[in-house]
Amino acid sequence: MNLKEWCEIDEILYSAETNEQYLQFAGYDYDKKNIENLSKMKFLISEIFVRSFSKPRILFLSSIENISESKTKTLELKLHDLRGTKIKSRYFKFNGKQLNWNNWRQFNSCENDNNKRKIVFDEFIKKTKHISPVINLRFKRIREIYSNFSDKIYGNSRNTFNPLDGYLISEKITFSELRGLVSELGQRARARFLSELNCGSKLIGKDPEYYDDFYFFRNRIFTGIEKYFLKINPVTTVKKTLRSIGFDFSKIHFDTNDRPNKYPSPICFFVKVPSDIRVLYKNESPYFNLQSCYHETGHAIHASSINPDLNYWEKYKFPMGIAEIFSILIERLTKNPLYLKDIGITNDKVLCELVSKNNFMELFFVVFYTANSLMKMEFWNRNLTIYETSRLYEKLIKKYMGLEVPGEYWMLHHILPESIMYVPSYMLAAIRAAELERYLINRFGERWWNDPVAGKKVREIMSNGGTINLNEFSRLDQNIFMKEITSR
Ligand SMILES: [Zn+2]
Repeated sequence: MNLKEWCEIDEILYSAETNEQYLQFAGYDYDKKNIENLSKMKFLISEIFVRSFSKPRILFLSSIENISESKTKTLELKLHDLRGTKIKSRYFKFNGKQLNWNNWRQFNSCENDNNKRKIVFDEFIKKTKHISPVINLRFKRIREIYSNFSDKIYGNSRNTFNPLDGYLISEKITFSELRGLVSELGQRARARFLSELNCGSKLIGKDPEYYDDFYFFRNRIFTGIEKYFLKINPVTTVKKTLRSIGFDFSKIHFDTNDRPNKYPSPICFFVKVPSDIRVLYKNESPYFNLQSCYHETGHAIHASSINPDLNYWEKYKFPMGIAEIFSILIERLTKNPLYLKDIGITNDKVLCELVSKNNFMELFFVVFYTANSLMKMEFWNRNLTIYETSRLYEKLIKKYMGLEVPGEYWMLHHILPESIMYVPSYMLAAIRAAELERYLINRFGERWWNDPVAGKKVREIMSNGGTINLNEFSRLDQNIFMKEITSR
């Protein structure tokens, strides 16, 4: 089999699998057996790659990732299952159902009795003992699988290849560069975050405590201004804006129907790049949905703008530090008072409040993701046990967020106990999205979203898929992003 044939098979499998996942998330009937079989086929085709090829690097790395994912699938499913069955409250229900990990966030955003939230938080922290052995075993297996490729990656067996190394290669950054960048971001956001957090009563109506997490804040903080967004339809509005600067939506399908089993938050699927892109969307809370709908639309226009003549891996496989640039760029519109005025939010008081609240959430994002990223990096780099990881996490949260949160909290997060790395990519992309926006403003003015030439420029950048020329707009300079959120 040559590389071209391999890519053709892999693309077909990828599309078939993504289509099944789409059906599942959309709340349609889907064939579970098909999903399992496609996942097995994906494993086999990845095995073929690592046995027959060593280049392109990005396919080699994504094949190792696929192999380690499918070899640990049972443990991943077990973790999902345990979260629903073991991480549950003895005392409380939510909407008549037993309160467990799955409806915990909804419970937190609706429950007005702080003491109840505290009791549940403490209960769930204790119950992480039921999931920690599975998390440990799964990461241990993944580490072993990666180390089997040390020879192929380094050409010798003296150096051990680990999942963090794979991540760093694909993001094109070294360990010390990433650690330096992330710590500096956290350090710069820290003081401002802490002083704003201490005015917690202005933000969430109470003094912040260890059980008030990022997601609780994100839901609570916007409650007073939600009503101003009721009249805005996010899908129609984002399409109108982007169409006016030349984006073509004929290859992007938005599913806006409500089905009982549909995934609650907006999500985008690249079924076939660039010709079949699908966004699922279901209306829930007005402002938060506006943000996430714009975010997913950013992913969708990126995928639909990719040049169809590129190599398979350039169209489909790029690191998240690149994939998230355009989603964040488009999401930034929903935080921009000039743009919000353009779409009919004219009340200055509301706009002002929105800017300061978004700003606080950006600071929160930075300090929280700094702790998350540094913890995950050290976990792989120093081969820490779960216990050591929790103690380190406690210290990092205290250092960057000023709160004494039990370190086991990371196991209750939706991404941290599952993904290999993932978290720092958002920080890289946030820096690059701010740089890209600055680049567009310098060339096309403050209201770049009204200029078709700006639209053309953005599509031109996007069209290169995985080989996007970052140098055109980014030096990975954190100053633009950090000044924006620390010097208001
Ligand atoms: Zn995204």
